[in-house]
Amino acid sequence: MPAESTFVIVGASLAGAKAAETLRAEGFDGSIVLLGEEHERPYERPPLSKGYLLGKDDKSSIYVHEEGWYAENGVDLRLGVRVAALDPGARQVSLDGGETVAYDRLLLTTGAAPRRLNVPGGDLDGVVYLRRVSDSEHLQAALHGAGRVVTVGAGWIGLEVTAAAREAGCEVTVVEPEAGALHRHLGPELGEVFADLHREHGVVFRFGESVTELSGSGGQVSEATTSSGAVLPADLVVVGIGAIPSTGLAAGAGLDVANGVIADAGLRTSAHEVFAAGDVANAFHPLYGKHIRVEHWANALNGGPAAARSMLGQGVSYDAVPYFYSDQYDLGMETAGLPEPGSYDQIVYRGNREAREFIAFCLSRGAVVAGMNVNVWDVNDDIQALIRSRRQVDQARLADPGVPIADL
Ligand SMILES: Cc1cc2nc3c(=O)[nH]c(=O)nc-3n(C[C@H](O)[C@H](O)[C@H](O)COP(=O)(O)OP(=O)(O)OC[C@H]3O[C@@H](n4cnc5c(N)ncnc54)[C@H](O)[C@@H]3O)c2cc1C
Repeated sequence: MPAESTFVIVGASLAGAKAAETLRAEGFDGSIVLLGEEHERPYERPPLSKGYLLGKDDKSSIYVHEEGWYAENGVDLRLGVRVAALDPGARQVSLDGGETVAYDRLLLTTGAAPRRLNVPGGDLDGVVYLRRVSDSEHLQAALHGAGRVVTVGAGWIGLEVTAAAREAGCEVTVVEPEAGALHRHLGPELGEVFADLHREHGVVFRFGESVTELSGSGGQVSEATTSSGAVLPADLVVVGIGAIPSTGLAAGAGLDVANGVIADAGLRTSAHEVFAAGDVANAFHPLYGKHIRVEHWANALNGGPAAARSMLGQGVSYDAVPYFYSDQYDLGMETAGLPEPGSYDQIVYRGNREAREFIAFCLSRGAVVAGMNVNVWDVNDDIQALIRSRRQVDQARLADPGVPIADL
């Protein structure tokens, strides 16, 4: 690209900040403008439902870069700035207030926003969502004053907040319409590992029920009614029912949008000079042979740099095996691949499932397509390589902890 080129990144997020870093590392010496509507410089979100929420991690640990990094690297970081519109024909974005910023290439890293609970009383005080650092700070304070918490949704965020609420001494009831925890993410058998963990910590689950109404007095929530007619006392209601990709800019500009911004394996969208990465991108994945949208930290960490290289005209085929992690109580877990129900027909365990120290290998027609290691460490890279190899595996050896995964 000519030295006077301007690359604009919309979304001062993990993906956006790592893309800016990669552009400089790859020698791009044009202008980089990083626009973000939040007032914080780019930070990582996983601690917001774990160490930072629990008060164990210092705020300084959540940021992607030191404060001075952006100026030192010639990245024009502009915070508190919302991009209102994208015009791919004119190659410019308009900010709230009307200012326009021209680009030669644009990266969308606008991420996702929490799905709202659309029931009567959903806007009462004490009904909270978790996406931003300010949400985490608010929630931390609220947990310390709340005796009874109702968590809506037994997904990752709901369960991590539930663990934090128990550690803060709250009584917690989790309401989930599916028949168990984490069904959409892991399927029933693996989801039960997490439901059992929480039950042992005194959490009550109401599976097969949804919250139909929230009520209270003086504008403050005090009860949640479920589809079975149960009325649950609640000082605090935490809603974790998924996230919706922030595709408004792309859709408004006429880009292809379907469950995220459609992109090819080089993370290029249907507008030639516009790229997308992180939670907002629904990109073609060479390993899966279809478009997938991945709402995982590692996808922002690796996808931002991949998009940056693609913007520079390097041939990119972004095919990282999806990676996810979670910490709840004393359980640490990583997954490789996408262990969603329907994607596998068999689970082979290595280690002790009851003691929650095991690897679960998810197989489809004899090959490992996903894996989850629970309180077992330094194996995820090998599981990813096994998935990538697509080779048939001997199940007795798969279950045998004495056989290195790399030798399977
Ligand atoms: C509480 C929480 C815990 C999580 N824990 C884990 C975990 O344990 N493991 C894991 O793998 N993943 C976890 N995730 C998911 C992970 O954090 C996300 O996948 C990751 O943050 C996605 O990063 P991103 O760069 O795509 O976008 P985001 O982090 O969503 O950031 C997008 C940014 O763009 C800004 N933006 C949007 N529209 C505009 C606009 N028009 N103008 C200007 N700015 C705009 C937004 O305000 C936001 O700051 C967690 C997420 C949350 C919320």
